[in-house]
Amino acid sequence: MLRVGINGYGTIGKRVADAVRAQPDMTVVGVGKTSPDYVAERARALEYDLYAPAERAERFDTAGINLAGTTEELVRASDVIVDATPGGIGAENYPLYAEHDTPAIFQGAEEDELVDTSFNARSNFEAAADAEYTRVVSCNTTGLCRLLTPLEEAYGVEKARVTLIRRGGDPVQSSRGPIDDILPDPVSIPSHHGPDVKTVLPDIDIDTLGTKVPATHMHLHSVNVTLASSPEPEAVRSRLAEESRLFLIPEGVGVDGAGALKELAHDAGRPRGDLWENCVWEESIAVEDSDLYCFQGIHQESDVVPENIDALRAMFGLADREESMRMTDEALGVGLTLDSASRPRYAADGQ
Ligand code: NAD
Repeated sequence: MLRVGINGYGTIGKRVADAVRAQPDMTVVGVGKTSPDYVAERARALEYDLYAPAERAERFDTAGINLAGTTEELVRASDVIVDATPGGIGAENYPLYAEHDTPAIFQGAEEDELVDTSFNARSNFEAAADAEYTRVVSCNTTGLCRLLTPLEEAYGVEKARVTLIRRGGDPVQSSRGPIDDILPDPVSIPSHHGPDVKTVLPDIDIDTLGTKVPATHMHLHSVNVTLASSPEPEAVRSRLAEESRLFLIPEGVGVDGAGALKELAHDAGRPRGDLWENCVWEESIAVEDSDLYCFQGIHQESDVVPENIDALRAMFGLADREESMRMTDEALGVGLTLDSASRPRYAADGQ
């Protein structure tokens, strides 16, 4: 059993903890928190051992929340740390992990230079073999890598151009609102997402434009890919439908946007209404000469979760790509269909 510590128990960390717990070959040592808030209470309710920096212990004590130890003890007790702290804090935590020879996985907001490899399971699983430090790329980059890799394999990608219509903040990020605006973000082109894709797929020619809108549910990608060949749209649909982490939204079922997608996820019993898959509108897949177009929705809070699990297996040689993705998908229930079982497969035992 791989012993995994999760440092940073927010939007991503809490989901990764539950996902690790759902796997047959890994276990959660505990979760690192800095504040004794409702999220810490929920972690205890889920029977996760809580760890905090030594200088924060008194706060937890005052709040009546028991700690299992310090963050340093969590690092020592773990085979590997998944660092899910806010951007830049991971880099600050790096020396602690290095000091204890504890490998670590960082998240998308950290710099590629911090790690041995940036990671997406479908695109470069093997690159993380024996890596001590890996970065699971951001939600948007993950979504782009998942789409571009099968397109590159099947048809060749000459050039990708993607406009990202990004949610202004996660539902819990009240500090980012209230807002009522539409921003080019960044106003300079390209946005950082294209170069970030190249940390995983160095040979892909891609330009990205970023915008931000006052929404919290999901991101929307408007995609144009010039292919090296001119497949029929139906062939592209069939090819993409083979990918377990791409959900092709069937035509005519009334899923007209992020709100409906989230509703579908809740109806399907997904924990926290999570959508681990890219959600590609089947009807939007069009090919003009060799130009492919489509829209895809990306659930920013959850698409990187299965990737963190696969990164753990890749780093420790626990399985090859196909086997790891299969195990992860099966344990979580990845592979949404309209008649997916309405049974959460992701919560802690007995929850
Ligand atoms: P978050 O703010 O929701 O959670 C971060 C947690 O870490 C918070 O609970 C915070 O209190 C805690 N924390 C802060 N400093 C800490 C420290 N020194 N030690 C331990 N815990 C500490 O952030 P998030 O949205 O989960 O983002 C985490 C990482 O995941 C970032 O790199 C982010 O870019 C990436 N990411 C976020 C999203 C998203 O949409 N939320 C999507 C993909 C990737």
